Amino acid sequence: MSMTTRAAICRKPGSPWESTDVELDEPKANEVRVRFHAAGLCHSDDHIQKGDAAMRFPVVGGHEGAGVVDAVGEGVTRVAVGDHVVCSFIPACGSCRYCSTGRQNLCDAGKNASTGMFPDGTFRFHLDGEDLGGLCVLGTFAESAVISEFSCIKIDDDIPFDVAALVSCGVPTGWGSAVHAAGVRAGDTVVIYGAGGVGSNAVQGARMAGAKNVVVVDPVAFKREMAEVFGATRTFADAATAHDFVVETTWGELACSARTPGSCAVTWSISCRARTTSPPPGPRGSGPGGCCCDTPSATPRSG
Ligand SMILES: [Zn+2]
Ligand SMILES: [Zn+2]
Repeated sequence: MSMTTRAAICRKPGSPWESTDVELDEPKANEVRVRFHAAGLCHSDDHIQKGDAAMRFPVVGGHEGAGVVDAVGEGVTRVAVGDHVVCSFIPACGSCRYCSTGRQNLCDAGKNASTGMFPDGTFRFHLDGEDLGGLCVLGTFAESAVISEFSCIKIDDDIPFDVAALVSCGVPTGWGSAVHAAGVRAGDTVVIYGAGGVGSNAVQGARMAGAKNVVVVDPVAFKREMAEVFGATRTFADAATAHDFVVETTWGELACSARTPGSCAVTWSISCRARTTSPPPGPRGSGPGGCCCDTPSATPRSG
């Protein structure tokens, strides 16, 4: 039997978020209903609301969330009623070609992120006879939502929901951009443009990966201050003033590579490996010693 739940929806690009009651279906096979305790506001949500990113409307916002499973559909094995869970903005079915080859960020089940439609072609949110998709087939800006069991991960009961919710998108996007996509190694110099939600976690990832210099460029003083808390070794208000420092610390080589977080596209991390040889051929910033981070994100965060 369906239920009513409160949700923040956006009816069309440019319309403000609107809090309203919507109808929520029961979970079907391999789906669970989650009662959310916390949600994060990612810049992707803002992009969607402003019409800067493609999305089916109307939409229930939110793809960062943590809560408690209070109902499960047929065949659900990953979680059970009462489990504390955090959402993942990209599902991982575990059995498709990509999941089975270690590329869960490309899981086939993530294909409906921009429509909120379930694989059977139906929707779980409804309002006045109209179907609403949840962003990334989640919709964490609702008190309750029905989501795929492949889109949630069980967490320990003592992890605070407001902290867990951030791991749905911003933390892994930033961390992964530095640690996995850029492959930051001990001794690297890493430059991170933008120290918002994604960038702050790129800072932490780079520092934990052993970078010698973690350089942050952000025009906002507060973000530069917080970047130092997260592990930045130097901060600059703009790229021009950071340039000389990066030239000096990389012996003129600058970037060996560059990575931009997918659709979130707000953080740009450059990892430079200083060399004892002469600078490599090719345009500046594209030499063979460099690397960049490209987060496997379907959704962005800035801030
Ligand atoms: Zn998969
Ligand atoms: Zn996001």
